[in-house]
Amino acid sequence: MDKTTLILHVDSPDAPEIKTVAEILKNGGTAAIPTETVYGLAANALSAEAAAKIFVAKGRPADNPLIVHISHISQLGDIVSEIPETAVKLAESFWPGPLTIILPKQPHIPEIVTAGLDTVAVRMPSHPIAHALIEQAGIPLAAPSANRSGRPSPTSWRHCVEDLDGRVDAILCADDSDIGVESTVITLATPVPKVLRPGGITVEQLRSVLGEVEVDSAVLNELAPDAVAASPGMKYKHYAPKASVIIVDADTNAYIDFVNSKADEGAFALCFEEDVPHINIPCVVCGTAEDESTYAHALFTALRELDEKGAVTAYARKPSSDGVGLAVYNRLLRAAAFNIIKP
Ligand code: AMP
Ligand code: MG
Repeated sequence: MDKTTLILHVDSPDAPEIKTVAEILKNGGTAAIPTETVYGLAANALSAEAAAKIFVAKGRPADNPLIVHISHISQLGDIVSEIPETAVKLAESFWPGPLTIILPKQPHIPEIVTAGLDTVAVRMPSHPIAHALIEQAGIPLAAPSANRSGRPSPTSWRHCVEDLDGRVDAILCADDSDIGVESTVITLATPVPKVLRPGGITVEQLRSVLGEVEVDSAVLNELAPDAVAASPGMKYKHYAPKASVIIVDADTNAYIDFVNSKADEGAFALCFEEDVPHINIPCVVCGTAEDESTYAHALFTALRELDEKGAVTAYARKPSSDGVGLAVYNRLLRAAAFNIIKP
């Protein structure tokens, strides 16, 4: 693939460059765009031909469905065939924001978007530039994360350029993604609402609105080789840097002693800011212990930084599973191919 990619920088939802990208998308093109979770790779969700370009640009397996992004609740009825009371409650509480809701699809949503499933994933992003873009395009936008398949998701426009320059029509560059991990995915197509992927909206928040909410066992456990994934994206090796990541399940002192005994070539500590003064191997920082959201914000940039620095092995602090920490732990488990040690 060798396209000319238009790289446009914007700092406000009024920027004229947004119109340029909206036109590209209306005409069936592709663009990487900022959202509050991670950068997304957008195309017209109502066009099979446009959506197919996303799979080619990313090298994404065809059985991994896309999330459809809307800017107004009135668009929902055109995408899903049923809007249960639970969906209304979730939309009122968490949209616009980092929550993706799965419901039965309308027949005209192209099969390629849902990877042949009879359900479709929908989200209304809160990022003002994403919102303005969807409004101006006037169409729902299918958008998975804007990374090459298998790579850490992009939380900066620089990551999009690294992965997609020459492969998409445009990259709309703005600030770093605020949250830093992808949206929470909840299905309402099961008898009890079920979280298929943890993200920016926590399980506790969902339970406060819906009462009973299940969490899919694949969130924290490796799928058996023959199992059918409820969320197809979760079955792939994901978010992985070139270094082999090992999660270290230990308290602060045990972690520090452990990594200090690992002074082999290419060994890095993926550690909290406050650990750095006590560690004598190279460090990449992933936030602070007392606030899971800082780990979420830093995680994907940190995974890419390990590659830039030539890390061979990275010993990662185990995040807490509270709040958005569950999403961090879910991503890190996949980056580490479920490799955890307790020193
Ligand atoms: P990404 O946007 O790259 O974070 O990927 C979208 C995620 O949403 C993937 O993990 C998909 O498996 C999941 N997803 C999208 N549509 C559906 C659906 N209809 N049913 C279950 N999971 C879905
Ligand atoms: Mg992705």
